[in-house]
Formats: sequence, C-alpha cells, structure tokens
Amino acid sequence: MSTLLDDAHSRLTEAYRLAEVPDEVQERLQHPRLAVTVSIPLRMDDGSLRTFAGYRVQYDDTRGPFKGGIRFHPSVAPDEVAALALWMTLKCAVVGLPFGGSKGGVAVDPKQLSRLEVERLSRGYLRALADLIGPERDIPAPDANTNPLIMAWMADEYATLHRRHVPAVITGKPVHLNGSLGREAATGRGALQVLQSWAARRGLTPGATTVAVQGFGNAGYHFARLACAAGYRIVGLSDSKGAIYSAAGFDPDPIWRRKHRNRELKGMVYCDASVCEAAQADSLSNEELLQLPVDILVLAALENQITEANAGAVQARQILEIANGPVSPGADAILAERGIPVIPDVLANAGGVTVSHFEWVQNRTGEYWEEATVNDKLAATLQREAQYVFEQAEQRGISLRAAAYLHALSRIGGAIRERGTWDYFNAGA
Ligand code: NAD
Repeated sequence: MSTLLDDAHSRLTEAYRLAEVPDEVQERLQHPRLAVTVSIPLRMDDGSLRTFAGYRVQYDDTRGPFKGGIRFHPSVAPDEVAALALWMTLKCAVVGLPFGGSKGGVAVDPKQLSRLEVERLSRGYLRALADLIGPERDIPAPDANTNPLIMAWMADEYATLHRRHVPAVITGKPVHLNGSLGREAATGRGALQVLQSWAARRGLTPGATTVAVQGFGNAGYHFARLACAAGYRIVGLSDSKGAIYSAAGFDPDPIWRRKHRNRELKGMVYCDASVCEAAQADSLSNEELLQLPVDILVLAALENQITEANAGAVQARQILEIANGPVSPGADAILAERGIPVIPDVLANAGGVTVSHFEWVQNRTGEYWEEATVNDKLAATLQREAQYVFEQAEQRGISLRAAAYLHALSRIGGAIRERGTWDYFNAGA
C-alpha cells in the first residue's frame, strides 16, 4: 500500500512532467532537509510516567524559514508528517509567502488527557525540539487537535528557555498573547474566498448552492459560519462522532455553541459533544454525508477521506479540500473522469498560513493591525492567487491541483536556481 508521502510524490511527478522542472530541482524536493523523532516523557496526573513519540519534519526552506503546524493525533507517524511538510512547502509557494514548509506532531489521543497533561505534553514537545525552532528558522502553528491555547503554552515555554519574549516563534497564538486578530477564522475564511472566486467563474449564486461540510472543527466551523452568512445553504455537517442533514439548511453558530458548551463550562481543552447531540436534525453516517447530492462537498477533517473505494459514490458537483490530502491520487483520477472538479488543499486551505504570516510580521514589527486590515489583506492574496490558478487550469486544460502545483513549482524552482544550484561546482562546467 502506498504511503501518504508516496502519494504526495506521485502527484508532484505528474506536475514535473507538465512544467519541465529541471532534474536538480526535482532531486531537491525528493527528500526533506531534516526529519526527527523525539521522546517526550509526560508526568501524568496520577504520578506515573508515560512517553510519547514527537516528530518534526523540515522539508524545504529555500524560500524562507520553515513553517508548519503541530498535530496531536493517534495516527501521527513520520511518513504522514513528511507528506504534510511537503504540502506546506507547496502551499506557501502557491500563495507567495516567504516561507518554506515543515510539519510536526505527537502520536497521542489528547482527548484522553487532562488539561494539565495536555499542557505538560505541549511544553515537552517544544522543549524537545527547541533547538530546531525559531522565528527565522522554523515557526510552528496549530493543526488538528491543537489550538491557540496550546500555541500559548509552547510560546511561553520557548520564552522561558530563552529568557526573553520571542512571540514570532509560533503563530496561531491567542490575541491576548501577541496573536493576530482574524487568525482563528482565517483557514475557513480563506477557503470561502477561494470558493467565491470559483463560484464567480462558474456562475454559481450562493442562495442556489448547497454545501455539505465534513469536519466541524476549527477550519470547518469557520468556513460553514461564513459561508452561511454569505448565503450558501449548509445542508450537511459531520464530526468524528456522526453527521446531520437538513434540506432547509443549518445555521452553524448555535450548533457550535451547543457542541462547545460543556468544554467552556468545565474549562476543557477539547469538546466531548457531537454535532448529532447539538442539533435537532436527521442523522446520517459519516460515509452517507460524503455521498450527499450537493453542489459543494467540503472536506475539512483529515486526509484520505475520498479514495478509490468511495469516489464513484460521490454525488457532489465539486469538492473543496480544506483538510490536507483528503482526496487520494486514485480518487482524483476517478473524480476527473466523472467531471467533478477538486479545488485543491494547497490553495483552498492556505488562508491559515497566510494570516500566520501576517501574525509573524506583526510580532516582528510590534505593530498590530485591525481585524478588517487582516481580512482585506487575506482576501487580496487569495483572490489574486486563486484567479491565477483557475486561469492556468483553463488555459492549459489541466486539473486545478496540477495548476496549483505548477504555480508553486515555478516559484520554488526559481528560488532554488537563484540561490545557486551549484552548477558552478559541476565538473566540466
Ligand atoms: P480540528 O481538530 O479543529 O477539527 C477536525 C474536525 O474533524 C473535528 O470536528 C473532528 O471531529 C472531525 N473529524 C475527524 N474525523 C472525522 C471523520 N472521519 N468524519 C467526519 N469528521 C471527522 O482540526 P482543524 O484545525 O479544523 O483541521 C482540520 C483539517 O484542516 C486538517 O487536515 C488540517 O491539517 C487542515 N488545516 C487546518 C488549518 C487550521 O488553521 N486549523 C489550516 C490548514 C489546514
């Protein structure tokens, strides 16, 4: 069975052929610069000691410091982290940010830990990797099951180790602790902006467009909330515990508030409720949600959700990838044959890292922006890059993913060449 990293490389290979990327650039993108595994000893509340595996992969930093989130999930493994780090490299290039790509994670089910155990684990991760992290070196951010609070603990640990404030070391921090206004909603907001650009080209009007969202976490919730406010009809929602359906459409806000009531009351890091308990609606299985006959299927949970096994059953007219890698390469081919376009992750979910860049800039200058300024800059970046990708796909007759990859490869390839591909040292040059 192919790994997630094999999948990531196989898609790149296709883009190399289209873009005639020089062999040396391909060779440089074949391997991460650094991949480490660390052991994180965690003192549990009952006094016992457990050890968790932590990972960091720094894929490529030709265009700027490494940038990539940290995920807490039982399935986190070196191969998955490397694939996500490669995608971060491409994503930063697609939207023209001055960053390379990295990713990290801990193999843990954080929902089994107490709040203090999650704090100790977060600080332990940062301590174990502190020598590799830094505002001009590698800048983490939240990903699945990590959030602003966890970023705050990590930033505090870094400041304690270095005996000075270094807010630009991590992005996605709480606003009270040098975070940026607009960061928490940025991934969902950016995805909606990309969708709006797509809708304008396709003549879709929000009021006549139905949407199902898989994954009602940070990215999925903010997307659903903003899409509903823009007039889209959100007919399906799911989380890891189940899915709900309403032909009339949901208002995602009260569902989110009910889902998170317990978490807020008990001061928990994670919520223990599901969308199914938070709304009076028809319930569906997670698999059924993926097969709803909607205009837009939004994938905002985890990777490999649409594969060769279920791509034939998708009835959506188009797919928006907010999660990283939710459509496998085999499924891509089936969907292409069936005429279902996929707006790819490296473009659709780039709003988060774009506002992370704004947070890093604000931390380094000490000047903080109004939320409207952040949102306007985000919209300008994503609309510009999305238009370019959509035009390239149309002009060249290629998939949206291939067009996004070509855009990224032209920026990364250019930077690799301009930094010196060491032709100078070639024998006989
Ligand atoms: P999150 O942990 O806040 O939310 C994930 C959601 O997916 C949860 O509601 C969870 O219950 C749900 N889920 C998990 N398995 C599911 C399944 N099989 N079916 C339905 N729902 C399921 O995470 P997030 O930060 O929202 O990230 C989600 C995805 O978006 C990840 O792939 C992440 O890498 C990507 N992403 C997030 C950001 C960001 O800024 N948060 C940025 C870029 C990409």
